[in-house]
Amino acid sequence: MKYRTILLFGAPGSGKGTQGKILGTIPGFFHFACGDAFRNLRIEDPMGRIFIEHSSKGELVPDEATIQLWSRNIQASTVNGQFDLAHDTLVLDGIPRNVNQAKILQDTLDVKAVFFLSCADPSKMVERLQRRALRENRLDDANLDVIRRRLETYETETKPVLEFYGPAIVHTIDAAQPQLAVLRHILNTVATLK
Ligand code: ADP
Repeated sequence: MKYRTILLFGAPGSGKGTQGKILGTIPGFFHFACGDAFRNLRIEDPMGRIFIEHSSKGELVPDEATIQLWSRNIQASTVNGQFDLAHDTLVLDGIPRNVNQAKILQDTLDVKAVFFLSCADPSKMVERLQRRALRENRLDDANLDVIRRRLETYETETKPVLEFYGPAIVHTIDAAQPQLAVLRHILNTVATLK
């Protein structure tokens, strides 16, 4: 049985995490943020080291480690009853993050909608990331070069995922709007999904 899934998609700083956290509080929705799962690893964990090595440079973690982390977390959440595969909608934030990951997950996910939080002005996202650096203690948000590299990685590696899923299920939302307007747009669409 495939997981009924909606994807939150957008550049670093586009607000995926904020929306994902809110959606995850709705009964019947389970939020998985890939970046959070990486940050929850302990530094002694070999996967934690791989994460630091790549994220500190603004690069993606290699696919094998990423997919392993994803399976490990989803399995644990299923076993402890947080995620009910038969009834819940999975809200994915930050995964799949390149076309290869999308292909690997193709047999596992039944993607009903992709919410593309689109922001025409990169300086807005840089501003958001820099604001969150101290608040959320994120080293990768504190360094302007790393932020720039992440935005490049997003353009070259992540953005092609939109084409993989195709325009029929991609919903583009202006990420520069107030968060409430973005949420309203997502909820209105989710309410119409079969
Ligand atoms: P943001 O979207 O603001 O860049 P995330 O918390 O989603 O922040 O991701 C932080 C970092 O974690 C990324 O820069 C990347 O190194 C790593 N990461 C998160 N998700 C993935 C993924 N699906 N594949 C590879 N690397 C990932």
